[in-house]
Amino acid sequence: MTITSKIWVLIEATAPVFTRAGLELLTPARDLADQSGQPLAAVVMGCHVEETARQAVALGADEVLVLDHPAFAQYETMCFVHALSWLLETYRPSSLLISATEHGRDLAPRLACRFHTGLTADCTQLSIREDGETILWTRPALGGNLMATIVCEHQRPQMGTVRPGVFTQRTPDPQRAGTILPIPQVPILLNSKVQTLQRLTGEGDAFTFDGKDVIVSGGLGMQSKEQFSLIWQLAQALGGVVGASRGAVHEGWVPYAHQVGQSGATVRPKVYIACGISGAVQHLAGISGADTVIAINSDPDAPIFQVADYGIVGDALQVIPDLLDALSQQK
Ligand SMILES: Cc1cc2nc3c(=O)[nH]c(=O)nc-3n(C[C@H](O)[C@H](O)[C@H](O)COP(=O)(O)OP(=O)(O)OC[C@H]3O[C@@H](n4cnc5c(N)ncnc54)[C@H](O)[C@@H]3O)c2cc1C
Repeated sequence: MTITSKIWVLIEATAPVFTRAGLELLTPARDLADQSGQPLAAVVMGCHVEETARQAVALGADEVLVLDHPAFAQYETMCFVHALSWLLETYRPSSLLISATEHGRDLAPRLACRFHTGLTADCTQLSIREDGETILWTRPALGGNLMATIVCEHQRPQMGTVRPGVFTQRTPDPQRAGTILPIPQVPILLNSKVQTLQRLTGEGDAFTFDGKDVIVSGGLGMQSKEQFSLIWQLAQALGGVVGASRGAVHEGWVPYAHQVGQSGATVRPKVYIACGISGAVQHLAGISGADTVIAINSDPDAPIFQVADYGIVGDALQVIPDLLDALSQQK
């Protein structure tokens, strides 16, 4: 079988949240392919993934390599590593993008290690050199205080991960033409010595910001878990969801899945309300895609006001109850 694409994107189609994250990657990958004048391939892995393969074409893939097997119905570390290693060895792409989901973070370093190649994690920008081949992987470095561009000069495939939410999906074009190539001969590892145990350890872990228009986020300025409950009340009153700074997550006021920022989620709501959050650069890294940012902070010099469209200088513990009162009166 001839596969012409050298730029590949992995779409792990084992659950909607992972599929969505993979499909998002077609946005930057399509740009890379256009810049380099090369076709783009998506590798779709899962069980019964015909629909995802069609979506990949509509979203920009020229070729879709389909690894469809019951063994891929759930993410199993060694099973995925084994099949993908074979695929990379056989078809030798020059680059591979993987979403930095829990599974992607497990998979990508193992593949990079097998191919003795470089892996740039958590990229936020991608471009391509004039040679049309070498990818410039850009990511925050030194605690988010500068952006580093990393290049993998010699080893192939070049590899990078991108966190879900950093790029948005393109508008699908159902008329777009692409070739869907089932890969029936892919080797399946039947007796893996490693078993991946997947479990949700609490309601919080199943949480996602995907598609949420309003996010009300709380930080250390909320001062206690009890007072952080005001954030939940305001989110509920506005039909939104709860976000948090790392400070609030570290205090145990809210599960990690709600953390926004460089080491949490990248969000793109219509409205982001930051309450008692200073606006550290690592927090701001997660909210640059928000349409409107509203900040409530008692310190008029808090950095969050530099990015806020609207600001309220005041005590969040008084302002939020006032807002709740006003909202209930409106109803
Ligand atoms: C590698 C790395 C990754 C990181 N990743 C993240 C990340 O993903 N997300 C993240 O958020 N942080 C991240 N951080 C941490 C980040 O640097 C900050 O420490 C953190 O964001 C601070 O949280 P905060 O704003 O809640 O707390 P603080 O910085 O302590 O700010 C609290 C704010 O509340 C205000 N305040 C106090 N009382 C009130 C009141 N009653 N009413 C209103 N305002 C009040 C204060 O004026 C202050 O501005 C990361 C750091 C590093 C080094």
